[in-house]
Amino acid sequence: MLRIALSKGRIFDETLPLLAAAGIHPLENPETSRKLILDTNQPEIQLVIIRATDVPTYVEYGAADLGVAGKDVLMEHGGEGLYEPLDLKIACCRLMVAGKVNEPAPNGRLRIATKYVRSTERFYASRGEQVEIIKLYGSMELAPLVGLADRIVDVVDTGNTLRANGLEPLEHIADISSRLVVNKATMKIKHRFINQIIEQMQGAVAKAA
Ligand code: AMP
Repeated sequence: MLRIALSKGRIFDETLPLLAAAGIHPLENPETSRKLILDTNQPEIQLVIIRATDVPTYVEYGAADLGVAGKDVLMEHGGEGLYEPLDLKIACCRLMVAGKVNEPAPNGRLRIATKYVRSTERFYASRGEQVEIIKLYGSMELAPLVGLADRIVDVVDTGNTLRANGLEPLEHIADISSRLVVNKATMKIKHRFINQIIEQMQGAVAKAA
């Protein structure tokens, strides 16, 4: 049995054609089914539907053999126990520092609200800057508007959400896209099968480019 971990929504939708190129077709749609394990046309391959932030954990522990996760999620997880053999070039965005439009940095330590605590720590540590990080789980854009933080670190696609809240992007931390991740033991044990899937998906990524 081979399990592939995916999150619902954009990643699922954009991964579907890449899986199809590898001959893998789910028999149900996770948007309409409540099932968390979906069978595919290949009896030995199942999809498991989980939260995007949990994908690296399932794959690290071997509860899933393969997974699709955003680089933002992988940077936070740390990538231990995983191979990251393929950039799927989907769900592209940027990890950015943002703040209120035309607001200068305050004197003293910046307060930064984010769910990306590790990436934020790493970014400011690399610049030798001491900052205070406030962990949030969503709606980061609100934090500067109500005085919780001076800045946020979040993923930005069109920038519309920032603009709608009177915020502007200030600094670029990383380009983000979704990656195929593979459990390290699976890669050794099922080398040929996994490599075949990687190659077929790679072909579809190259065609889409
Ligand atoms: P935007 O297009 O910049 O207005 O993005 C809207 C919101 O969607 C942002 O606040 C992000 O949290 C989220 N978002 C955009 N792109 C992605 C992505 N590729 N992965 C995860 N979240 C995203």
